[in-house]
Amino acid sequence: MINTTLLQRLSPEPILGVSMNRVSVLRLDMIGGDAPGNKAFKLKYNLAAARAQGLERVLSFGGPWSNHLHALAAQAAHEGVEAIGIVRGECPAKPSAMLLDAADWGMHLEFVSRADYRRRSDSRYLSHLSARFGPCLFVPEGGANVEGLNGCRDIAKLLPAVNHEQGAVVLPVGTGTTLAGIACGLTGNARLVGISVLKGAVGLEQAVRDAIAESAFADPGNWEILHDFHCGGYARVSPELRTFILEFQRIQKIPLDPVYTGKAFYAAWQLIGSGAWQEPLCLIHTGGLQGRRGFPWLAEQPD
Ligand SMILES: *Cc1c(COP(=O)(O)O)cnc(C)c1O
Repeated sequence: MINTTLLQRLSPEPILGVSMNRVSVLRLDMIGGDAPGNKAFKLKYNLAAARAQGLERVLSFGGPWSNHLHALAAQAAHEGVEAIGIVRGECPAKPSAMLLDAADWGMHLEFVSRADYRRRSDSRYLSHLSARFGPCLFVPEGGANVEGLNGCRDIAKLLPAVNHEQGAVVLPVGTGTTLAGIACGLTGNARLVGISVLKGAVGLEQAVRDAIAESAFADPGNWEILHDFHCGGYARVSPELRTFILEFQRIQKIPLDPVYTGKAFYAAWQLIGSGAWQEPLCLIHTGGLQGRRGFPWLAEQPD
């Protein structure tokens, strides 16, 4: 079923000289409760797995602005599950708005050194954490596991069957779990294009193939990842990206975050502007808007 309110057509008014008139946006930022976006989808089956295993506690990892920990804190509170967030680095003198939200929702925050944080997938470190906190479901950083992939497959159900001739579906990529899930769920023969927000993410394609191989699905081979639109690297903002985001928001009245959605939408704008992309597009707005509060030049902008 096409969800017409979640799938919005952009206004044809040019943005910095380029019209994005054949572009629709799937507004995942509008669904998911207190922590909307793709992380709500990634966590859904993780929390279900905790319940199925009789575990009343979930534990995961992230940085001080992590969209993932933010969403985990919100969803765990909603479902009455205890949540522990292992946060990379010292407790900041002035905690981020993300950490304040997570603490408000009852997440226990534990700050660890970067050296300890690097051990987040090491089974000995995980047993040390369960000895400390009691039995818990471990969710990898970013919700990058098979439950996360299965949840993201449900995102594809919000899209109408898109065919090759009709264009491409575009989204930002961090770990690749969301792309992997949507690739497995797409109907029609749409092309899925991921925009890497990381610089030099060699191995990202392999990570996607591995994630799909671990799931119950066959790789439909309908996806690719573009690596030249990271704007300087993870969470880096170039002056051009900043200008684009502010103009896009002013004209389209859709807020973007600079870490993920801003980069994917900016990539699409550039590829439309250069003439490389002439077909209609569906951009997936994966959320992440809580992170805007870490960028003073954006935080002052009205939504
Ligand atoms: C985490 C995140 C992504 C990346 O998702 P992956 O599954 O790690 O590729 C994209 N957009 C937003 C807003 C995110 O928070």
